[in-house]
Amino acid sequence: MLTENFVELMYLRLNRHLSTSDYIAWANTQLEQGCDLPEIAEMASFAFEREPDAQAVEHYFLLCVKQLGLSVPEDDYQSTRDYWSQTCDQMLDGSLTLDEGIAKLQDIDDDQNYYLMQPWWDLSNYYIALNGQDDRWQIVAEDIARLGQDAYTRMLVRQFAALCRLDQSALPERFPDVWHCIACGADHHHATDTAQRAAHCPACGAPDTLKNMRYLENRQHML
Ligand SMILES: [Zn+2]
Repeated sequence: MLTENFVELMYLRLNRHLSTSDYIAWANTQLEQGCDLPEIAEMASFAFEREPDAQAVEHYFLLCVKQLGLSVPEDDYQSTRDYWSQTCDQMLDGSLTLDEGIAKLQDIDDDQNYYLMQPWWDLSNYYIALNGQDDRWQIVAEDIARLGQDAYTRMLVRQFAALCRLDQSALPERFPDVWHCIACGADHHHATDTAQRAAHCPACGAPDTLKNMRYLENRQHML
């Protein structure tokens, strides 16, 4: 069921339209999983009404959230990152296969330009290029050839989950579509669609410390 868990429900609440029945379904799932809060039972009972009152459902939903010690994320990006990192955790613990998890991540509406998603678009472009449908620059091809597809993807998942949990204001603007110096912290917004992974930093003069953050190994420096 789509709305089985709270993080996913919050992501959908902020990013897409949720119907009243999605909330009621969530409450029913909580009941089935053994939750004995009276507010959850009350909310689940709306399922018996032909046209549940949306405001009443919302009222009970917020009460349940409070009683369960959960909190509604304040903004879309926070809720989206929670959802991304939960999806990564599910891939790592095996409750989702890598393919299922990637499909979920790539299904995210990106009309808000979430730069952090870039590694998944790069992986997606690699698959497109592999199928001969496109000759776009394959930023991940060399690493996959070296590490193997599964190992590379697992590293990407682990790293992405960690990046999602960071204070995003600590990351460079447009990260990882940016060059970032690991010696002096300067950012450079030259094109990152290149085979070049590191360069001399014009700000501090250090050799090869200006890293192209499109590459997995370079993003590790931010963790
Ligand atoms: Zn520098």
